[in-house]
Amino acid sequence: VASQTAHGIDRAARAQRLAGNVVAVEVRGLHKRYGAQTVLGGVDLTVRTGEVVALLGPSGSGKSTLLRCINRLEGWDEGSIRVGGQLLGTDEAGHALSPRATAQMRASVGVGMVFQQFNLFGHLSARENIAGPLRWVQGLSRLDADRRAQQLLERVGLAHRADALPRHLSGGQQQRVAIARAVAPGPSVLLLDEPTSALDPELVSEVLEVIQRLAVEEGLAMIISTHQLRFAGDVADRVVFLAGGSIVEEGPADQVLNTPRHPLTARFLSKMN
Ligand code: ADP
Ligand code: MG
Repeated sequence: VASQTAHGIDRAARAQRLAGNVVAVEVRGLHKRYGAQTVLGGVDLTVRTGEVVALLGPSGSGKSTLLRCINRLEGWDEGSIRVGGQLLGTDEAGHALSPRATAQMRASVGVGMVFQQFNLFGHLSARENIAGPLRWVQGLSRLDADRRAQQLLERVGLAHRADALPRHLSGGQQQRVAIARAVAPGPSVLLLDEPTSALDPELVSEVLEVIQRLAVEEGLAMIISTHQLRFAGDVADRVVFLAGGSIVEEGPADQVLNTPRHPLTARFLSKMN
């Protein structure tokens, strides 16, 4: 990993700038259990606005669970999660919120999520997959929603496929629509859970390019779980390595990827190369 990214960004200057940004996501002492199994064993993670964090770790290490907790798709047993300074899923006294209040909070604090399996609405066109939620959740007019959807389709290189149904799009194109949909409401935090794992190898790069462009252009906090090490090195400011539900190592992307300090990280990285 070079001191400059593929986009010519000076890493040291960028790190210094990011350190002054406000905290976008703050996870404290997060514990999550399924029955007797501890899936997250006390996770602490702070991500600042504009910062891109790559979440690495073996299968089953808890990456998806952590992202799903941050988006409040899962509950947890101990600890707290703040997004944009707001406690997520609980009121200030720690009492659970209703599902409706949770959905409103998720929209108001601005968390978007991209899933491994795209999760597009199969009966809706690419444009309507983006415009629909903008009307239903954000309350935009049809005209404004369609205009915004078209803009975003242009940004992910799919303006010409706006009327296509998901099943008539390639996996890479579907994932680009899903990314456009997640970004459409202007979230402050974007979570991506192995966004290229379901894709044929030849379709991976078009999706990674779109994510990398967003990371550079938007002031979003991004947390991306991925097995694409080169991509992590190119796009991430920080790498967090999760094993057995705990963060065993985290640091600047070039440090963790090139000179890992924890044996579990070193073993994982050597197997991936
Ligand atoms: P990763 O995304 O890193 O592969 P996950 O967060 O999906 O890891 O899973 C972490 C652990 O939690 C795994 O052992 C998995 O089997 C378990 N797990 C995940 N979801 C559930 C569930 N709904 N019920 C029971 N166990 C689960
Ligand atoms: Mg997963």
